[in-house]
Amino acid sequence: MLSSRDIKQAARAAGFDGCGLAKAAPLSAKRQRQWADYISRGYHGRMDYLSRHADLRADPRRLVEGAKTVVSVILNYYHPLSGLAATDWRMARYAYADDYHDVVKAGLRRMMASLGLVEGVDGRCFVDTAPIDEKYWAERAGLGVRGRHTQLIVPEAGSFFFLGELVLTAEVDSYDDAPPAAAPQALSLCAGCRRCVEACPTGALLGNGEMDASRCLSYLTIEHRGPLSPDVGRAMQPTIYGCDRCAEACPWNVRYASPAVHPALRPRPALLAMRRADWQQLDRTTYLSLFRKSAVKRVKLEGLLRNIRAVDAAEGPEEAATSAATAPRHP
Ligand code: SF4
Ligand code: SF4
Repeated sequence: MLSSRDIKQAARAAGFDGCGLAKAAPLSAKRQRQWADYISRGYHGRMDYLSRHADLRADPRRLVEGAKTVVSVILNYYHPLSGLAATDWRMARYAYADDYHDVVKAGLRRMMASLGLVEGVDGRCFVDTAPIDEKYWAERAGLGVRGRHTQLIVPEAGSFFFLGELVLTAEVDSYDDAPPAAAPQALSLCAGCRRCVEACPTGALLGNGEMDASRCLSYLTIEHRGPLSPDVGRAMQPTIYGCDRCAEACPWNVRYASPAVHPALRPRPALLAMRRADWQQLDRTTYLSLFRKSAVKRVKLEGLLRNIRAVDAAEGPEEAATSAATAPRHP
């Protein structure tokens, strides 16, 4: 039996901003219905892995045999994009720092080691890539509540957080999860607010806490393969990778988001120095130097250039010419 105090202390020592514990169990029937609806309506676009692994996602004990405990952790990645003007081309905030998969996984491994646990024997670490419903488990673990923008809102901290999980075979002396009937409900922190829905340039947010990911710019600019339509290019402006607009509009972030302290999540100065003309001239050498150990590698150079061309084509020639003429050069 593990001590919840020791686990939370290990999470703090590993640099996480929060940690909560839930008993490993099947997802609630309501959540499983939501997933089934999401897939049947095609909201997952071409992210086929979401439909392929429904059975694993429905119960973490199928991912880790004998699992008893899901430990959820959160890590703040917000930074204010210092130096960028509103019209400067930009990327989603997380893309300016080291690859969060590596950062979060390293922290989870440190936690396991400090608790005397062996990865692969006593449990496994998960960050984003496995079929585990991260937001559900973070919610069950009492770390926050899903908002209308579908992200986890951490009260008095906002939603700019990476999530990660340890699924452990050991029981813990005390859990944070409330019985489903007493657990906080998604949207309970939103009240009558709809700012994220109004801020979304593609209508991807359905307003009921669900998202048609196939219309979301994060999907279209990262997961989607193939050309982007002129409409998508117009919606993207001025963002060439990912999208933060719904999160930026959220009052929980406007009021509470504070810069990340984890050193690996500080934005890279060379990326913050990139201006429109630099992106337009991006070549393989610069790409490899800018995005070493970065999550942006997922789209490869060709994908990023496709995004750049889509935004470039959507801009009026006058604005583009003016910006290019006045833009500072990347060193
Ligand atoms: S990330 Fe952008 S496109 Fe996607 S739901 Fe949020 S505002 Fe809409
Ligand atoms: S912007 Fe408003 S509605 Fe959207 S998640 Fe934030 S609080 Fe909820």
